[in-house]
Amino acid sequence: MLSQKVSEELREIVGEEDYLSGPEDLMAYSYDAYLPDALPDAVVFPTSTEEVSSVMKVAYREEIPVTPRGAGTNIVGGTLPLRGGIVLCLTKMNRILEVNPEDRYAVVEPGVVNGDLQKEAAKYGLFYPPDPASLNVSTIGGNVAENAGGPRGVKYGVTRDYLLGLTVVLADGRVIHTGGKTTKNVTGYDLTGLFCGSEGTLGIVTSITVKLIAKPEAQKSIQAIFETLDGAGKAVSSIMASGIVPVALELMDSTVMKLIEESHRIGLPIDAEGLLLIQVDGSKDSVEREAQRVAQFCRENGAREIRVSREAKDEEILWFARRTAFGVMARARPNCIVEDVTVPVSKLPAMVREITELAARHRVTVGVLAHAGDGNMHPLILFDKRDREEMERVEKFTEDLFSKAVELGGTLSGEHGIGLAKERFLNMVMTPETREVLRQIKKSLDPKGILNPGKFV
Ligand SMILES: Cc1cc2nc3c(=O)[nH]c(=O)nc-3n(C[C@H](O)[C@H](O)[C@H](O)COP(=O)(O)OP(=O)(O)OC[C@H]3O[C@@H](n4cnc5c(N)ncnc54)[C@H](O)[C@@H]3O)c2cc1C
Repeated sequence: MLSQKVSEELREIVGEEDYLSGPEDLMAYSYDAYLPDALPDAVVFPTSTEEVSSVMKVAYREEIPVTPRGAGTNIVGGTLPLRGGIVLCLTKMNRILEVNPEDRYAVVEPGVVNGDLQKEAAKYGLFYPPDPASLNVSTIGGNVAENAGGPRGVKYGVTRDYLLGLTVVLADGRVIHTGGKTTKNVTGYDLTGLFCGSEGTLGIVTSITVKLIAKPEAQKSIQAIFETLDGAGKAVSSIMASGIVPVALELMDSTVMKLIEESHRIGLPIDAEGLLLIQVDGSKDSVEREAQRVAQFCRENGAREIRVSREAKDEEILWFARRTAFGVMARARPNCIVEDVTVPVSKLPAMVREITELAARHRVTVGVLAHAGDGNMHPLILFDKRDREEMERVEKFTEDLFSKAVELGGTLSGEHGIGLAKERFLNMVMTPETREVLRQIKKSLDPKGILNPGKFV
């Protein structure tokens, strides 16, 4: 519990209406999209860098843990206040401060929702590519802290690729600025890159300058249905080896298709093993040519049905299944965990086979979605956490899943981060020496260990 003096100080900094400590309010900030929960002692909603800095000065002086929070959509327990203290929620810092079409950048506060930035950029004919499936809810601050990606990652990369500069409040309340507004910048260490993906453990991001790019003239999507997952996997390899760089190359297995079909009746096959959804963009001519070549690669690898979008309306129809997949899966059983293992793209077919075999061996229900073009798999594990025996099988499945991914040259997470969920598996991919370097970085920026304690460092 916070002392009377501290809670009065915090109220004074953020204002009475931006300080919560009632039991029902604390409960609302005790969980995210992962499984466990943990209660904070207070939740504050600062509205400026100065307020964040003042809150941190109090927390640092009193050694109170602080957990930064955006929309709370992370899937790794990243916003759980494991040691109580203050949840510092940035959703009220939600202004788009500048869009500069001439130099193609935007400056935003951390609580801006990704989709809102995309819409604002589009008004200027510009494009902010990082597109996590949570884009209508998740914040740019949360995206930076997790280095979020999305389907467009194959061609356009992830959040880090669009960061030009940050304003960051350190654990002791000092404010620093990293990077700048230019696309090229090698002035000193890459601190912007360091804070990106640091999951709220090194500092609190209060302003973000992102690069915007020109919006492509045209785009097309291709949906291909495969009898076998193997065929779908081989089509992925053929497309990626051909020199075409698709915007997105998504894979869905039969478990996911069946559940979507049960919920929405949109005509997905329930007897096929795999579906690929591929998007290409560029000039009108190149898009037409590439769409035809992609369709050909799918046919050559056994696609039994292919649909190509002709207009914007068709795009929406083809993408509906992909966008709705998480929600449908999450409703199918009381609990759902989305894993995020990533393998070299040539190992995708092998990893898909491994997941299917492991699910059968451990008797666990698993649907597979994948950003197949960059080897980033999302096995969705469905279960009931009240069933201990089932939980044990889920645990074993998860452990084997990570081992297999690493064995195939892959890693634990492509875009969701480590947080609490994968901390115990970090040794699979990091030597003690590497982990020690993480700890040293953490210690130099947060010597009292008050920022998001209990997470991966
Ligand atoms: C349905 C669904 C679909 C998803 N799809 C994708 C996807 O396609 N790709 C993907 O990458 N992720 C995806 N995610 C995961 C999640 O949406 C992302 O990790 C997102 O970036 C989190 O943003 P948020 O605003 O919710 O942050 P939160 O969950 O609130 O926080 C995430 C982490 O960032 C830290 N943090 C938040 N704001 C700040 C800040 N200003 N400064 C410092 N640290 C901060 C927190 O402490 C925490 O560790 C999905 C989640 C769901 C529920």
